[in-house]
Amino acid sequence: MTPASDLSLSGVSTAHDVDAGGDGVAARLHAVRRRLRAAASRAGVDGDTVTIVAVSKTFGAEAVLAARRAGQVDFGESRVQELVAKSGEVGDGIRWHFVGRLQRNKAADAVARCELIHSVDRLHLAREVATRARRASKVQRVLLQVDVGEDPDKGGCPPAQAPELLAALDTLAGVECVGLMTIPPLDADPRPLFRRLRQLRDQQRERFPRVEHLSMGMTHDFEIAVEEGATIVRVGEAVFGPRPPTR
Ligand SMILES: *Cc1c(COP(=O)(O)O)cnc(C)c1O
Repeated sequence: MTPASDLSLSGVSTAHDVDAGGDGVAARLHAVRRRLRAAASRAGVDGDTVTIVAVSKTFGAEAVLAARRAGQVDFGESRVQELVAKSGEVGDGIRWHFVGRLQRNKAADAVARCELIHSVDRLHLAREVATRARRASKVQRVLLQVDVGEDPDKGGCPPAQAPELLAALDTLAGVECVGLMTIPPLDADPRPLFRRLRQLRDQQRERFPRVEHLSMGMTHDFEIAVEEGATIVRVGEAVFGPRPPTR
């Protein structure tokens, strides 16, 4: 497998500069990295090949900059409006990921800013992302979001549709699908679902060799995800602290 670093998704330094103002964030980030390395070694993989996406939704630009000073490079947002505002505030030197549900009329704004869009789950959306990427003279890297937990609230295509969607994505100029993503239902045991996503990836990679990444695992289950083969984890609260419930 191509390490995530070759896709420039990794490269997070492990600098230990706990700076004034961002002490909490820097310390939490170091703890997440430690836990991730331990989980990776249990799985027999090198922790440095797993990319941490720090999901900064609801947290301000200051929090992003504190994490950035502690060596974090990849950040995720789940709302385009918030992504646009925050990315404008924090400036360059950050790789943005879009992890939330994406509406077609917001696709251009996500394409303009994101290294990776994790949440492509239908053909209409894929076509729009491709069109916008071509107009921006870009090849947009995306993940196919799969609803392995059969929880339509979380978005994602049914697993049975994944093969045909991957085939369609493969023919679209302007997008490149580099893996799969899932969000398990909160009340489900995530491990069998992570395993299912990995199996799906293993099967589909025979036809689509670029489909190699697995974006799975959040604050409460990222270690399980890493044990089950995640190459990208999306961690918010464990990095930034408790998020006030909004919706
Ligand atoms: C908010 C969010 C995360 C991070 O959740 P935490 O529980 O804060 O780690 C990860 N993925 C998606 C899609 C999210 O919306």
